[in-house]
Amino acid sequence: MTILEAQSTPLVRAVGAVAGEALAALHRRNGSDLRCGVVVEEVTGSSTVSAVLLSDGTEIPADLVIVGIGAFPATGWLNDSGLVLENGVVCDAMLSAAPNVWAAGDVARWMSPDFGTLLRLEHWTNASEQAAHAVRNILDPAAATAYSHIPYFWSDWYGSRIQFSGVPWGEPQIVSGAWDAPAFAALYRDGNRVVGALTLNRRADIMKYRALIARSASWDEALQLAELRNAA
Ligand SMILES: Cc1cc2nc3c(=O)[nH]c(=O)nc-3n(C[C@H](O)[C@H](O)[C@H](O)COP(=O)(O)OP(=O)(O)OC[C@H]3O[C@@H](n4cnc5c(N)ncnc54)[C@H](O)[C@@H]3O)c2cc1C
Repeated sequence: MTILEAQSTPLVRAVGAVAGEALAALHRRNGSDLRCGVVVEEVTGSSTVSAVLLSDGTEIPADLVIVGIGAFPATGWLNDSGLVLENGVVCDAMLSAAPNVWAAGDVARWMSPDFGTLLRLEHWTNASEQAAHAVRNILDPAAATAYSHIPYFWSDWYGSRIQFSGVPWGEPQIVSGAWDAPAFAALYRDGNRVVGALTLNRRADIMKYRALIARSASWDEALQLAELRNAA
């Protein structure tokens, strides 16, 4: 299998470059030909696909091509609405984009009370929880509350479970295992606070780190949890 990736590593936006490189090794260890920093120019073939052409002239023979090239928020129909549209519909912490206008799901870029910045997520968990929260605020706007949510996603590669929670700020630090080990945990920090966690094949760990991130726990507290998890 050949995997073509435009970025420097797979998942670089989701987990950062260092962790992305560690996860990329999973592809290589499992016999996939991963090529990063490449641009697909064309898929060739007449009735069926025969090859993929790259911008550097490389031709990769193929009889099956699976395309996963991301998505962007379809806000064009709102261009003249007066709403702030910047990589989604910009909302306050209550998910309100303007008086009596609310947004939820992939299209919403809201002021996260957990991280103090605008976030836009493309995960099912967020889409359903955010929609429920928006509806509660719509039903009782006077008592509207901020939408708190710690991002979480998982993915399975070659039988390995990748899980991430929080935001991938700064350089991650390994706290369990090693980057090239079959299982590891790495944490991301913002000053003295733990803000993100990435685990590979440590299924019991991630929700514990997520709980720490949700209550703005300190970096030291996160390291203590890592010690406990390593001893378990
Ligand atoms: C291939 C793929 C795989 C995914 N896998 C996962 C996964 O494994 N785990 C995970 O957590 N998330 C996954 N996601 C992301 C997940 O699907 C989304 O986060 C989720 O569906 C977002 O829900 P939503 O309701 O915000 O938007 P959507 O599900 O995109 O629904 C928006 C709807 O609005 C409609 N629409 C758009 N414009 C208009 C308009 N002008 N008028 C009327 N209707 C309009 C669209 O047609 C669409 O039906 C995946 C997404 C894709 C594309």
